[in-house]
Amino acid sequence: MKVFDGKTLAMVIKSQVAGEVKKLNKKLKLAVVLVGQNPASEIYVRNKERACKDVGIDFELIRFAETCKQLDVIKKIKELNKKPEVTAILLQLPLPKHLNERDIIETISPEKDVDCLTQANFGKLALGLSDFAPCTASGILEILKAEQIAIQGKRVAVVGRSALVGLPTQMLLTKHDATVALCHSKTQKLKKITKKADILVVAIGKPNFITKKYVKRHAVVIDVGINKVNGKICGDVDFKKVKKKTHLITPVPGGVGQMTVAMLLKNILLLNLEKK
Ligand code: NAP
Repeated sequence: MKVFDGKTLAMVIKSQVAGEVKKLNKKLKLAVVLVGQNPASEIYVRNKERACKDVGIDFELIRFAETCKQLDVIKKIKELNKKPEVTAILLQLPLPKHLNERDIIETISPEKDVDCLTQANFGKLALGLSDFAPCTASGILEILKAEQIAIQGKRVAVVGRSALVGLPTQMLLTKHDATVALCHSKTQKLKKITKKADILVVAIGKPNFITKKYVKRHAVVIDVGINKVNGKICGDVDFKKVKKKTHLITPVPGGVGQMTVAMLLKNILLLNLEKK
């Protein structure tokens, strides 16, 4: 059994990105659009700002009040699309309920869509035309590669089908020749499916939901969940009990979350290199 060390792999990726950024003859800049004051989003945005600064990427935060108008956010994103110095745009999710998330995402120019959430970029990923993917999904692939986990022909279960995590993870791992079952809240006999998985990815946002009974012996378990219980951060997997059964498991914190930020930096670079 091995516990994955997200901090170390994220540092390796960050230093690779920093090296590439130095070689460029232009500056890269990430603009983050943040609506409201969701405490978790505030932390994520601060982490992204710090990471950008660490590798020499410029950063701008554009804040909107919780009660802002949809048209004002759209207008701002259109302005950012036109600014040559802004090379990447990220809309921090979730948005307040009165805003139409899809319409706002579609305003982002695909060339600057660092989270790969526009129909154009997501479509390319779905068709297997590109490895450019939302940061968390890319981070999961990077973990499997770095840990030399075979993907081809393996049975994978992804629990959670969000556009941000579960769905693109399914698409990316299918592109890498895994056989992927995408599970969600309406899935029947979930345990039967996850128990067969050589690689189990969990992204549901339910603390310690996945117990030993859901996991195949010697499986690789990737825990994406970030939950707060009694002031402590934990994942969607009952880490202490499940880890003994696994070949590799990612901890929370210190696992996938570290990779998501590192892959954001890599995606900023990829947008610039047009290697989508
Ligand atoms: P989300 O949009 O709320 O989606 C949750 C998914 O889980 C949905 O597809 C839902 O099914 C499914 N689900 C809920 N309860 C389930 C159950 N009992 N059995 C099976 N499936 C169930 O969440 P998300 O944005 O994907 O995030 C998931 C978790 O990952 C959260 O804890 C979030 O904080 C965390 N996260 C972490 C990172 C990171 O970098 N580590 C990045 C993003 C998100 P339905 O579609 O049927 O509703």
